[in-house]
This record gives sequence, structure tokens and C-alpha cells, in this order.
Amino acid sequence: MKPSVELQEVWRAVPGWEGVYEASSFGRIRSLGRIVQRGGRDMRVREKILAPNVHHSGYLRVNLSHNGRRSEQLVHWIVAATFHGERPLGMEIRHLDGDQTNNAAANLRYGTSRENKNDIKGHGTHAMRARTHCPFGHPLVGSNLVKSEARRGHRKCRACNSAHARAHRNELRGQTLKQAADQYYIEYTMAPLTHRSLERTT
Ligand SMILES: [Zn+2]
Repeated sequence: MKPSVELQEVWRAVPGWEGVYEASSFGRIRSLGRIVQRGGRDMRVREKILAPNVHHSGYLRVNLSHNGRRSEQLVHWIVAATFHGERPLGMEIRHLDGDQTNNAAANLRYGTSRENKNDIKGHGTHAMRARTHCPFGHPLVGSNLVKSEARRGHRKCRACNSAHARAHRNELRGQTLKQAADQYYIEYTMAPLTHRSLERTT
């Protein structure tokens, strides 16, 4: 099944987080510019597209927080709830093209557990092999693959892998995960990030 291609990115309020977070038809999540209270003072925060992290399940996750309420959520859950309404009881969220990181609204649909498994079986392996970029847009070229994974036929982004390791050691020093990963990418491949690779991430 081929999802229809949308050309226009549409943003809608995330249910339960109105005025704070929005999800887009392309599968991106942003926090809105607003005034927040920090230590009893008003602070202006800017609108920001959230950089998702990759859960070991292969799905993308983001951290939502507002007024002391914090919640780590899967991006496809957010996009599905925003564009397709509340999930029917017992249903799962399908990625029609089998790519767990393609969270465009048109690629998501509520379905049964069996349908969900078929999506992954039908396309999953193929999508993994055919994938040319990681979710942050780093080209999956030879020197940017995790070697131990590559031997097993998995294409895993080495730059992101290193950045995750640094984040776990709490050594990002004010950088975002993506900024750290971008630096590793340049280091591993000696190649500047091209417009095409950056385009996919912002
Ligand atoms: Zn990467």
C-alpha cells in the first residue's frame, strides 16, 4: 500500500498539549514560542522543532514537558493522535511503508496487531537495507556505519551511535544530540553535510 504524498506541511495542536506542542503532517514535532515560569520569573522561549532520539526498538521518541509535567513519547503516537484521533481500543499504529522512522501522518494508520506485523515483515527488512540516511539525515555511507552492525547486515548510523553514547555519559556539554552527531559525522567521513542531508532533518 502506497501512502499518498503530501506537499504541504500542516501543523496541528497535539491533543492534551494545546498551546505548547504541535505535530506536523510530515511527522515533525515542535514546541511553540511562549512565556514560561522559571524560578518565579517569566521567560520567553522560542519556537523549536524537537530533535527526536531513536529508541532501541527503532521508533523515534521525544520528550514533552510543560509546567512540571514531563512525558517521553513516541513520535508516531503523537502524530497519529493528532491527525487520526484517539487510538481505538486494542489497535496498534501501522507504518504503511514499513519504515518505523517515517512518521508522516499519511504513512500512519490504526490497525490490528497482525496488520502491523505484516507491514514490518512486508517492507521492514527491505526498508532497512534500502535506507540511505539515518533519521537525523546523515548519509549511511561506509565510514559512517557501525561496523559490528554492518557485519550483520544492519545499517546503523555511527555518528548518531557515538552521540548517544556521549549523551549516556552525560557529556554533551550543552550541545544537542543532533549537534554532537553532526560533528561525529564530519569526523568519520571527512565530509561536510550537504544541503540534501540537512534538509531531511530540519
Ligand atoms: Zn545519524
